[in-house]
Amino acid sequence: MKVLDGKNLSNIIKVEIKEVVDKRLSLGMKQPHLAAILVGNDGASLTYVGSKVRSCKQVGFVSTLIQLKDSVTEKDLLLEIKKLNEDKSVDGYIVQLPLPKHINENRVLQAIDPEKDVDGFHPTNFGRMALELPTFIPATPFGIMEIIKRYNITTSGKNCLVIGRSNIVGRPISVLMSQKGPYGNATVTVAHSKTKNINELTLKADIIISALGIPEFLKKEMVKIDVIIIDVGITRVIDNTNPKGYVIKGDVDFKNVSKKASYITPVPGGVGPMTISMLLKNTLLACQRKD
Ligand code: NAP
Repeated sequence: MKVLDGKNLSNIIKVEIKEVVDKRLSLGMKQPHLAAILVGNDGASLTYVGSKVRSCKQVGFVSTLIQLKDSVTEKDLLLEIKKLNEDKSVDGYIVQLPLPKHINENRVLQAIDPEKDVDGFHPTNFGRMALELPTFIPATPFGIMEIIKRYNITTSGKNCLVIGRSNIVGRPISVLMSQKGPYGNATVTVAHSKTKNINELTLKADIIISALGIPEFLKKEMVKIDVIIIDVGITRVIDNTNPKGYVIKGDVDFKNVSKKASYITPVPGGVGPMTISMLLKNTLLACQRKD
């Protein structure tokens, strides 16, 4: 069994990005600039945005954090988006999800200029991804593909089960795994909450990409020997013995499933850190497009 070390890989990618940024600066070229809009005070969102801002510093990007109150109106949020669309100094930006219930997420995501949509959630970018055209690939699926590529995992002809069909993980990764090319060409099945007898599917899968958000959902009895496991799930589970009051759990019972797997991502330290480095990669790309 080999652990797919997303943390280490993410650090390698950040060093690569920093080298490109340093070169740009030495040539007098523009410094990449990532902005983030954070609405409200959700603990997990604050953590994610905080590490995105810290990562920007590590690679030499400019970063701007725009914090808005939970009570912000959709109209005012859309005004902030308009400002970022028009701000020539900003190469790319993200709107941290989830948004409060009174705000229409789709309307917000569709207001983002596709050229600055480094999360890759805009329909234009999603459509381009589905058509295998150059685009911003959503950071988490992009990170998964990068793990597969850098560990040189064979996917062609393999049965890949994606659990979850969200617009930010399950759906895009199912598209990417089935696309033509050296790290796609898998035969993809997508499972979701209405799927019946999921064990039959998990037991047939050569690769399982789990993005459902139920801690330790995938048990060792559900997988075959030498399965490749990519665990996207991140759930905070209350644990009073931990100083933070919670522990982070993935969708996979790592301790037992890892005994049967050929490759497996840990949680934390797997897909999570890769998501951030791929967001940085998309921002660099957005900046380079303007050169
Ligand atoms: P989501 O929007 O809640 O989607 C969850 C998906 O799981 C849905 O498609 C749902 O089916 C499916 N599902 C729920 N229960 C199921 C069951 N019993 N069997 C099979 N499928 C089931 O979640 P998400 O945003 O994709 O995130 C999923 C997990 O990944 C969460 O833990 C999240 O925190 C984590 N995440 C991690 C990263 C990272 O960087 N590592 C990034 C994003 C998300 P329906 O469509 O039928 O409801």
